[in-house]
Amino acid sequence: MKGYRFSVPAIVITMLLATTGPALADVITPDSVGGQNITTASNFMSDSGDPDTANDINNALSNGNIYSEDINEPGTSATTSVLNNITIDKTQVAPVTRALDPKNPDQFALIVNIASILYHEEVHVHQVRIGRSWDRAEHEAWTKTIEALGRWTEHARQQYDKTHDKTDLERMQIIAKHQKTEIQGFIENKCFGGKCEEGETLLKKANETLDWITHEQERIAQQTPKPATTTNPYDNPALNSSAGGGG
Ligand SMILES: [Zn+2]
Repeated sequence: MKGYRFSVPAIVITMLLATTGPALADVITPDSVGGQNITTASNFMSDSGDPDTANDINNALSNGNIYSEDINEPGTSATTSVLNNITIDKTQVAPVTRALDPKNPDQFALIVNIASILYHEEVHVHQVRIGRSWDRAEHEAWTKTIEALGRWTEHARQQYDKTHDKTDLERMQIIAKHQKTEIQGFIENKCFGGKCEEGETLLKKANETLDWITHEQERIAQQTPKPATTTNPYDNPALNSSAGGGG
């Protein structure tokens, strides 16, 4: 009896959550930290060869169609409603209190994450979802996002080919690592009912790209004088203590 009485309000709350959705979430304004991070992510996407999706994201942001919320559901960082409102988890869209700086490698990784989450949700926005199975909808969103991450990696590689700047190589590595994480997630989800051979092929290619980056980084390191030979001994605690003890 007690259990029954408890279950009624639980059902009501569940229905309320399901029907009101974005009303419980906060709309992301363009000038908020989350809004600025979304703009940085869409700029990155546009510069990396996906200007149309970037434009859709900018429009969704300025039209108030992107919300943030504590999603609290493992494996879910964002959702798209039947009205095509996107809700993104607060900790993903605004992981720190200030707007993310794309020149900082750690923060650039968080921007790539936001870009891939929004790319995935934009696939859903453009899908005809009525009468379509959840698996098929997710299969398309995941594979298209993995392909997009491949394009962004390739774009970063072209940039590195021009500059031979290790900062550009590091950016390429960050995007390629994120693509690998996405592919692993796709495989963990049993490829959403698709053939998992395609997931394994994608993973192999992602590992090859990451290996190429590592070789390139090693090659650059060999060309650069070893920092140890040029270090002031007084900056090195180990050398300091031996110098002091020996004296
Ligand atoms: Zn999805």
